[in-house]
Amino acid sequence: MHTNGIAIIETEKLPIKLWLKEDQMDEGALEQARNLANLPFAFKHIAIMPDTHEGYGMPIGAILATKGAIVPNAVGVDIGCGMCSLRTNLTDIATEDLKAIMGTIRNTVPVGFNHHETQQDEAWMPERKGELPIVNQEYESALYQVGTLGGGNHFIEIQKGSDGYIWIMIHSGSRNIGFTVANHYNDVAKQLNKEASDDVIVAQELAYIPESSEYFELYKNEMNYCLEFALANRKLMMERVKTAFRDVLPDVEFADFINKPHNFAAEEEHFGETVIVHRKGATRARKGEWGMIPGSQGTGSFLVKGKGEAQSFESCAHGAGRIMSRTKARKTLDLKEEIKSLEDRGILHGIRHREDLDEAPGSYKDIDEVMRNQVDLVEVQIELQPLAVIKG
Ligand code: 5GP
Ligand code: MN
Ligand code: MN
Repeated sequence: MHTNGIAIIETEKLPIKLWLKEDQMDEGALEQARNLANLPFAFKHIAIMPDTHEGYGMPIGAILATKGAIVPNAVGVDIGCGMCSLRTNLTDIATEDLKAIMGTIRNTVPVGFNHHETQQDEAWMPERKGELPIVNQEYESALYQVGTLGGGNHFIEIQKGSDGYIWIMIHSGSRNIGFTVANHYNDVAKQLNKEASDDVIVAQELAYIPESSEYFELYKNEMNYCLEFALANRKLMMERVKTAFRDVLPDVEFADFINKPHNFAAEEEHFGETVIVHRKGATRARKGEWGMIPGSQGTGSFLVKGKGEAQSFESCAHGAGRIMSRTKARKTLDLKEEIKSLEDRGILHGIRHREDLDEAPGSYKDIDEVMRNQVDLVEVQIELQPLAVIKG
């Protein structure tokens, strides 16, 4: 059934609303969406964004609203993972300057599993409020993690905007502190659910913390801290990137900073009720709210304004989404071809070896099709083309 570009799948309990065709969804993600729809505490319907693909327990690119329970796996292990964008006043940049800037960024922003060698200024850290047992335990080491990129899918990209300006985009999350909090509370949830004989939900990797549990407020508090930490992490990296620009181009100015998460849960009003909205690989797109939808290191990305569409719980996609697993990308994509397509476009990219193919443009969906599938969710403001990228 199709209404308004939305396909609807009925389940025993709630419907699933899709912003792509059912046959464009992989089997695994579809099964996970059905599991979500059948959760006893799920609210109204499950919303599936056009960039969706199978995740851990819940598909990436999905929205689950709940009443009376919170699901750590519906937030994801990288709590607060997201993007930030910043506009420069540059309209052009020489390749030599760009190379120098990327070199400085590599020296000041650790990537992959690397952390800083020294603790960063505590002023970068969000203030700790309320009870935060796991955060407190991880706090000292987080002082080495703030301002680091992390692995794989995370990136720092310099782009040329259709508005004529050079833009900077950063994708990263809450590093090890967020990972530790996420795993801790998923284990807590599993334990609680087993005690309540909710074994099916545990097996589906959707363990939940009921409102009645003392862990409910605790998880929310720690999750919110990690959300703040992820924002701070991106902000500090952006400062380092700005410094790298200033070193080479002293007169450069910056404006229009946007910083948004795509792995989080928040209490919001929808359909006249207060619910917990879990967005996993999805961003909030309230009417007039700015957001960013990246494609890949070899395709366009988009800055958008939300339309506040109610059925999506005022959300939109967070990217193009993977079209194949990392393993499959490394096995099946053609290294020479992927490199050639990036170099033909003059992009300073990071694909060197077969192992890097998991992040090649060919491992992601067609971003233009993803954008067409969500015309009712967002309005494109600025198109961005990649000039140079550092991958985690
Ligand atoms: P995540 O890894 O958070 O689920 O998804 C991030 C999204 O960012 C992906 O779906 C993909 O479309 C996009 N993406 C991944 N790598 C890059 C990159 O290097 N540059 C840009 N512009 N987008 C990327
Ligand atoms: Mn992440
Ligand atoms: Mn992410």
